[in-house]
Order: sequence, then C-alpha cells, then structure tokens
Amino acid sequence: MLIKQNLINFKKQLKKNISLVAVSKTKPISDIQEAYNAGQRNFGENKIQEMVNKYEVLPKDIQWHMIGHLQRNKVKYMAHFVNLIHGVDSFKTLKEIDKQAKKHNRVINCLLQARIAQEETKFGLTFEEIEQIVASSEFQSLKNIKLVGLMGMASFTEDKEQIAKEFDSLKVFFDKLITNKPLTLNFQFSTLSMGMSDDYQIAIKKGSNMIRVGSAIFGARNYIA
Ligand SMILES: *Cc1c(COP(=O)(O)O)cnc(C)c1O
Repeated sequence: MLIKQNLINFKKQLKKNISLVAVSKTKPISDIQEAYNAGQRNFGENKIQEMVNKYEVLPKDIQWHMIGHLQRNKVKYMAHFVNLIHGVDSFKTLKEIDKQAKKHNRVINCLLQARIAQEETKFGLTFEEIEQIVASSEFQSLKNIKLVGLMGMASFTEDKEQIAKEFDSLKVFFDKLITNKPLTLNFQFSTLSMGMSDDYQIAIKKGSNMIRVGSAIFGARNYIA
C-alpha cells in the first residue's frame, strides 16, 4: 500500500508533460506489481538480466527502460522488448543495438548519455563526441535505432547550485542540437532524461521532461546497485 500512496503523492506534483520512470532495480516483482496496479507503466532497471527476468513474469504492457551502463554483449537479451535505452555511451554500443534490433525487425528508441558530472567515475559522452556521432554518415545509415534525446546524471553532491549548473548545461546542449540538426528518421529529439529522487526538482526546473525515480517511490534499496 505504501508504494501506491507514494506514487499517487508523487504524481500529484508532476506536470503532465513530465514522464515518470519508476526505477525498480533490486526491488521484488511484488513491488512492481503494486506500482502497476496503481497505474504505473514505465519502469527502469539498470541490469539487463534482472530486467529480462522481470519482463518475463510481469504484464506485457509495461514499458521497460534500461537506465544502467550497458554491456554490449548483453544487448541481445533485451532487444526484443526494451522500450527505451537511456545509457548509450558509445557509438559502438549504438551500432550493436541497431544490429540486434534489426534481428527482431524493430526500431529501438535510445538516448545518448552525456557526461555532465564532475566525477571521473560517471559514464557518458562529451558534448563534442555526441555532435560527432550524430553528424557522421555512419549514424545516418542506422535504420533500427531512433535517437530520441539525451540522458544525464548530475554530480553526487549536496551543492544544489552545482547540480543546477550541470543540468542546465545539458538542457542548453539539447536545445542547440534540436536547433542545428534537421530531423531525420533516426534523429527525433524530444526527450531529456534527467533527475532522480534527490534532484528531480532541480532537473525539472532546468527543463527535464523525463525523471527516473527509485527510492522516493519504492523506498531505500538494501544494497548498492
Ligand atoms: C538508481 C538510478 C536511478 C534512481 O535513483 P533514486 O535515487 O533511487 O531515485 C536513476 N537513474 C539511474 C541511472 C540509476 O541508476
């Protein structure tokens, strides 16, 4: 019952144009089912195998988001059902997703992950690398992926101004790409995925339209994931 109440309270404060991805990593099937019963359909996981296991037993109208760092050799296990892959951080990975999507006759929606945090440990592409990817002729030849936007994670810090600055830089870059690059079949930017339980309010203020929220809905995780 707690999850349902959390979700209802959470959604009340969200404007309609903001999508909520409920991050269910490490949480049991019963928790996801409870959120589903409360109307939630978008769920995020950060490990491919865990997402596959959950996909197999849960209702098929759930939209699954892969939000974690991707191991290229595991993309094939989710290619038949994943709805949006947030953490694409190399051109090689994008090409692998395209290849696996093709086998299933699908077009998989992807976000490129930009590195906006100061920490060295965070994954992601620089803005220059993103520009190079979308400008390349090889990118234009990919027919089984669709780039629908960008994802970013802010630094893990109490410094709200720092977080705001990082999100702002991604929003400015996102807008610049939309302005400068004409839409094509595989480049249709509309989604800016930024914001988690601790910083989603800042992210929304800075222009996020998709937030990924775990602990504020499902409660704290028992172990680091
Ligand atoms: C775990 C995770 C989240 C959700 O984190 P919470 O702090 O529990 O809201 C969001 N995005 C990514 C990439 C994650 O790995």
